[in-house]
Amino acid sequence: MITLQKIHKSYVTGQNSLHVLKGIDLEIKAGEMISVMGASGSGKSTLLNILGILDNYDSGEYSLDGIPIRKLSERKAAAMRNKLLGFVFQSFNLISFKNAMENVALPLYYQKVSRKKRNIIAMGYLERLGLKDWAHHLPNELSGGQKQRVAIARALITNPKVILADEPTGALDSVTSLEMMDLLQEINRTGITMLIVTHEHDIAERTQKTIRITDGMITEIINN
Ligand code: ADP
Ligand code: MG
Repeated sequence: MITLQKIHKSYVTGQNSLHVLKGIDLEIKAGEMISVMGASGSGKSTLLNILGILDNYDSGEYSLDGIPIRKLSERKAAAMRNKLLGFVFQSFNLISFKNAMENVALPLYYQKVSRKKRNIIAMGYLERLGLKDWAHHLPNELSGGQKQRVAIARALITNPKVILADEPTGALDSVTSLEMMDLLQEINRTGITMLIVTHEHDIAERTQKTIRITDGMITEIINN
């Protein structure tokens, strides 16, 4: 599903260049659930942003679902993201003035699905995630775990093949974190490939494989 070969990435700011990814080779098969661990600043989010076609890389090869991802136009990148990828973030990234249902429905707005239809589909996902009664609440009326479930529903609504999650439990207490992992594992069992960045060993252990990144290089791969 995902193949990376010798991916390099530097951030250039003014005179300075910071070499963040130093030759990443990685293969993730369809249906796998993988975690990425590493110290703060080791390049985990940079890697995830490249996988999510949210950022470019400098050299190497990336192919997603058999399609080589080079410097795509923003339009093509957006089309690929819409078709294949779902994102979950530590800080949920919900729109504060839209209710849970509208947040979940948002990706379908970009696919020009009518309001009525997208709200019906969004309600289906909220129901599946146990949030039907919270559909008309704003994000600030929801708990952290509820907000993350809204974000997961939003990620699922386009039927992605891959979900990329950047520290999805980073802002949650330990009990809610484990519930979130149950949910992500259940979603993975439906066949969706999943990559989760985490700082927590008990989260990583629930994935099939843990990849350790040290200073922009993969230094260890553990089968859990
Ligand atoms: P992690 O997610 O593992 O904590 P990141 O991938 O966010 O690490 O960052 C890796 C390094 O790249 C850090 O030193 C960070 O400061 C730097 N960095 C991240 N994003 C940018 C950016 N947009 N511009 C410049 N430097 C960046
Ligand atoms: Mg990060």
